[in-house]
Amino acid sequence: MTCPLTIIKLEAAPGPDNCARSARIRFPFAVVRHMNSNTLIRLQSGDALIAVDVQIDFLPGGQLAVPQGDAVVPALNRYLAAFGARALPVFATRDWHPQNHCSFKAQGGIWPPHCVAATRGAEFAPGLALPAAAVVVSKAATAEADSYSGFGGTDLAARLRAAGVKRLFIGGLATDYCVLNTVKDALAEGFDVLLLTDAIRAVDVNPGDGARAQAEVQQLGARPIRYEDLAP
Ligand SMILES: [Zn+2]
Repeated sequence: MTCPLTIIKLEAAPGPDNCARSARIRFPFAVVRHMNSNTLIRLQSGDALIAVDVQIDFLPGGQLAVPQGDAVVPALNRYLAAFGARALPVFATRDWHPQNHCSFKAQGGIWPPHCVAATRGAEFAPGLALPAAAVVVSKAATAEADSYSGFGGTDLAARLRAAGVKRLFIGGLATDYCVLNTVKDALAEGFDVLLLTDAIRAVDVNPGDGARAQAEVQQLGARPIRYEDLAP
């Protein structure tokens, strides 16, 4: 008796697809709606946006171009509009190097000259819709010191705290260098961090660097989001 019963059960057992379909059908619509609205992120007081190094030299055609770096501009503009509509603060970091910066190859660094202070390459991407009130944070502005992080050698943390910021939305260039290190420092400073995965691009000197950077910051506590995750 045991054997035939087992066979009947196996034949009747739905596959994974059937399972999912029947589960969806049985799920009350109101409950599904509730779960979805819970996952949306509502922008609120205490939130700030940081646009990391969206500068001409990091865009295609620039001195240190990030592949598809220009794609972050329209992506960030959507977030900038959402922050602007709620009068929430915006910060923009930038490399602001002297001609003889230590990160340049001529000085023994690993990068070609880029983002030299007050040159066109150091300007923000022309299409980036930064509000007039955006706080610009210049970093690595002396020959001796480099910093991938917007927090390195700047007053960014103090300015964020002074503005009552608790939660940071961070996007820009590049995923595997300045975004990575800015996010890590933001977490270490005690801020909640949402990584704007649709508004970052990687250099990928070694294939997979960008993906590894994203995995690393997620493991440290940054939450990956896309624009669609924001509540309208
Ligand atoms: Zn630099």
